[in-house]
Amino acid sequence: MAEHFHVAIIGAGPIGIELAVALKNAGIDYVQIDAGQIGTTISWYPPEMIFHSSADRLSLAGVPIQVPNQQKLTREEYLAYLRSLVLQFNLKVRTYEKVVDATRLPNGTFELRTTSMAGERRYHVDIVVLAIGAFHAPRMLDIPGEDLPHVSHYFGDPHAYFQKNLLIVGGRNSSVETAVRCQRAGANVTISYRRADFDPNVVKFWLLPEIRSMIRDQRVRFLPRTVAVEIRRGSVLLAPTDESGALIPDSPLQEVDADFVLLMTGYRQDATLFEMFGVQLHGQDCQPTYDATTMETNAPGVFVAGTAVAGTPPRKVTVIVETCHVHIPRIVGAITGQRVAGLAPGREDD
Ligand SMILES: Cc1cc2nc3c(=O)[nH]c(=O)nc-3n(C[C@H](O)[C@H](O)[C@H](O)COP(=O)(O)OP(=O)(O)OC[C@H]3O[C@@H](n4cnc5c(N)ncnc54)[C@H](O)[C@@H]3O)c2cc1C
Repeated sequence: MAEHFHVAIIGAGPIGIELAVALKNAGIDYVQIDAGQIGTTISWYPPEMIFHSSADRLSLAGVPIQVPNQQKLTREEYLAYLRSLVLQFNLKVRTYEKVVDATRLPNGTFELRTTSMAGERRYHVDIVVLAIGAFHAPRMLDIPGEDLPHVSHYFGDPHAYFQKNLLIVGGRNSSVETAVRCQRAGANVTISYRRADFDPNVVKFWLLPEIRSMIRDQRVRFLPRTVAVEIRRGSVLLAPTDESGALIPDSPLQEVDADFVLLMTGYRQDATLFEMFGVQLHGQDCQPTYDATTMETNAPGVFVAGTAVAGTPPRKVTVIVETCHVHIPRIVGAITGQRVAGLAPGREDD
């Protein structure tokens, strides 16, 4: 037996939550479903990670964030803020329930099928908003040994690497942050990066001088213009790259000791739901096709909100929370047929 709602919001990250508040305020009957806990994407950031966005840009639904020291927020503070919002607005989020199937019914509405620990559920909805984010899975290197137990694409607690040889692959924000924190926690850190140097436009401005001084003082070993080609138990084979960062074939390999390997090579979107709903993906980023004035995709009745609009950008991620607040009034306006004043500042995402 299916439950009926006017709108289904799929995803309860920051933007899904901001949309839920707006729909509730507008008196719209909706259901919100998340495959994990609220803020799942943020929950897997490293402990105590500091956002690069300032608190005012991360605030949602017009509810300010006050931080005792006026600094940027940590992962923990933002998750606590998300929980407070859900409590304050009495939002009902169906967590740990994943939307696994979607069908358009003959009358143009949708049937959604979800799975959870409790079993399967079905929903009939008139409108769907995909607020599913863009960080579903790591970008794989597809090299031998990537699946070994001492290899991970996620940085957790630096304590794990105390007095161990840690090889970090990548040279963007996550890699640099991981290297700085693990070195301070007593790990022997080596960074392999396929480019000649870090990009100051990508790495958090307060981390760049830190990593440079660690490298200068030989507290971190930096192997620029190298790429991992095979991971073994206890070591990694690196090959040289050319100026563009591409592997130079048939070059001599370098073997680097590594008790642990962290592949900080970015994340990619899972476009399965877009495909199920008939949303067209375009460009090398595989971005969903949508009308930027309403956020409705090419599939009538299917909207997209939040960082899900980005697809999988091959370079720098530029679609973040602060650029997505504007999606909320567009969607509410389209659903109610009324233009709604903006709820929070934000600039266009495209
Ligand atoms: C290390 C790191 C640091 C970052 N720092 C910043 C920063 O400083 N500022 C910033 O703005 N952004 C930052 N980001 C990006 C940030 O995570 C996103 O901006 C933010 O989470 C986007 O919110 P969202 O609501 O669009 O999507 P998400 O937070 O990704 O939420 C999507 C939700 O959809 C759910 N979902 C997906 N598929 C399904 C399904 N099939 N069924 C049900 N639920 C589903 C997921 O479980 C998830 O909870 C950072 C990312 C990383 C990895």
